[in-house]
Amino acid sequence: MAWFDSVKDLVGISLALLAVIVSLVTVLISRRREQASSYLAIQELMLSDEVQRGRLLIYQSGISGRIPPLGTADYFRIVRALSVFDLLGAYARKGIVRREWVLDYWHPRLQALRAGYELVNYREDGPYPNHGRPDLLDLIERAERYDCRRQCCTDGRRERRLSRGKAQTGIAREAELPNKAAPPPTA
Ligand SMILES: [Zn+2]
Repeated sequence: MAWFDSVKDLVGISLALLAVIVSLVTVLISRRREQASSYLAIQELMLSDEVQRGRLLIYQSGISGRIPPLGTADYFRIVRALSVFDLLGAYARKGIVRREWVLDYWHPRLQALRAGYELVNYREDGPYPNHGRPDLLDLIERAERYDCRRQCCTDGRRERRLSRGKAQTGIAREAELPNKAAPPPTA
């Protein structure tokens, strides 16, 4: 009956292996659900009125080379929008949300964000000197390399966003100088 024992062992091993595979798949499905729910939560925050307004102010600052004076509501909207973007980058780095989902949705905005981001982030007399926001910078750099064939990136749109970001960054840093004479924040 040695053959029977061998078959029994084989069936036992197969069942144990199947149990491991099923539990691994369950863990992966549950992790994917958690990531989806975290992604929806941060998307809701990203698309809230205040954060959206702050983001628009960053784009405008990147184009004009000027940022609202320190201490104003608009300046704090900008700081908040950058902080939430940085948080999104941190979530992506930690795997709390999938980075591919983040880049898939946000790559055009991240590409357009560069000039305004640099202007605010490197402002020496800002409330967060040398803060750097490395997770946001990482997202911006990945977005600039992101390969997309959809309408958001065709017909030269991607190139226009990237070249505007590069062109405005230098201008923005020059134009930043008068802001240094702005009064200190009062709040
Ligand atoms: Zn695109």
